Amino acid sequence: MVRELAHLIGGKHTPGASGTYGDVHDPNTGAVQARVPLAGRAETEAAITDAAEAQHAWGEWNPQRRARVLLKFLQLVEGERESLARLLSSEHGKTVADAHGDLQRGLDVVEFAAGIPHLLKGEFTDNAGTGIDVHSLRSPVGVTAGITPFNFPAMIPLWQAAPALACGNSFILKPSERAPSVPLRLAELFLEAGLPPGVLNVVNGGKEAVDTLLADPRVGALGFVGSTPIAAHLYATAAAHGKRAQCFGGAKNHLVVMPDADLDQAVDALIGAGYGSAGERCMAISVAVPVGEATADALVERLKERVGRLRIGRSDDPEADFGPLVSREALDRVRRYVDIGVNEGAELVVDGRGFTLPGHEDGFFAGPSLFDRVAPQMRVYREEIFGPVLCVVRAADYEEALRLPSEHPYGNGVAIFTRDGDTARDFTRRVNTGMIGVNVPIPVPVAYHTFGGWKRSGYGDLGQHGPDAIRFYTRTKTVTSRWPSGTKEGASFTLPTMG
Ligand code: NAD
Repeated sequence: MVRELAHLIGGKHTPGASGTYGDVHDPNTGAVQARVPLAGRAETEAAITDAAEAQHAWGEWNPQRRARVLLKFLQLVEGERESLARLLSSEHGKTVADAHGDLQRGLDVVEFAAGIPHLLKGEFTDNAGTGIDVHSLRSPVGVTAGITPFNFPAMIPLWQAAPALACGNSFILKPSERAPSVPLRLAELFLEAGLPPGVLNVVNGGKEAVDTLLADPRVGALGFVGSTPIAAHLYATAAAHGKRAQCFGGAKNHLVVMPDADLDQAVDALIGAGYGSAGERCMAISVAVPVGEATADALVERLKERVGRLRIGRSDDPEADFGPLVSREALDRVRRYVDIGVNEGAELVVDGRGFTLPGHEDGFFAGPSLFDRVAPQMRVYREEIFGPVLCVVRAADYEEALRLPSEHPYGNGVAIFTRDGDTARDFTRRVNTGMIGVNVPIPVPVAYHTFGGWKRSGYGDLGQHGPDAIRFYTRTKTVTSRWPSGTKEGASFTLPTMG
């Protein structure tokens, strides 16, 4: 049976009114399992109106009271972890174990945001001039919105919604139309936890809904996570409409293997971070950079053997290392990129193009591919593939290995595997990339530090979660005050100084 999804506007399930729908597939079988309404302008504007009306009262709740809603939400999610993970896995195609991680990384940020009474404390200067005190406070922005990708249906909506709400904003979520059920359920749980109706709305849809959010002057801040062309377009358009924006894009994350690295650890890291979630992670490692021919030969030999042993299965198969890709288009794109790499002259060591899972011939399964001797000018190196394809680029020495991620157009994450502290320190200081792992393959920071890529991986000044999230979802107001007993002089016609 094909489920019919709705929006969540003003605390109510609202059926689609535009007459347009998107199909949500089961990537294991290729069958349509749900239909999601794609909002037009009218529905999106209705959500903005509700969010604008609800925000003022919510922003007046004291921060501790707002934090209690987040804490109650965390309690409610506890009872549904398994069902949420299974639902997420059934729409995305990542394994159930991996879906638990997706949810947990989101919950970590809810826990962080529940510390909002402390996080919102401003600054105070006593006696900045005679009888004059100065303090700053963090006001909510007002109505905020978030547009999220298919590949983390729990984590990224929570990364945006939790700090936005904790700071006293209302929030409109426009989740990916390819995996909408978990974001919807999470929003329902926020309402059950005591969030007033209208403070969090979910509008399903695509470009039309996003364009409405971008153009409406009532939306003060907009967060986006998805592919780079859309991130760049949304950032420029949001700025043109006078909005605050942070837009995160695609990635091509390198893992440098120095000759002194623990090769077993490096291989484990590349297998997990390269092929986990079928490579559909913005922090996946898609490029291995062994330093020196001997390191490269040893690495490729071991990778070839390990890639050959990977188990691809249904997303609910507990034995599977990874499941299907999200869609038929994603599968076609990955196969096309492997063709491109072959035509460009890269050495295809393992070919995943012909893989099918018996009994699931219509599922979106891609086998793992491994390329050796990839060159920096090749498209398989320069462009994001977003699938289970690992490229090995051999570097002659450390300086070349450092240059590759530094000069790459993307700058999300990078890792170095070495036993040498001097090399690791030099690398972390000089590499031109936002997040760095030292003997850690997927350096997604913990919730109370800031996540954010550089270059074409991130547009905007502030990152996600950690201290940057509180800055993004608030505006600083600075107050200079003097009480009558401190006012001695008469009118002054010169610029006031504190000297
Ligand atoms: P996508 O860009 O196709 O879609 C992202 C969101 O934008 C969705 O909600 C979609 O409905 C909306 N959208 C699509 N086309 C639009 C348009 N023309 N105008 C306005 N909105 C539009 O991305 P995706 O395929 O869902 O996600 C995968 C991408 O996201 C990859 O490139 C991945 O690297 C990236 N990603 C980045 C990060 C990060 O933190 N940098 C995290 C996760 C995913």
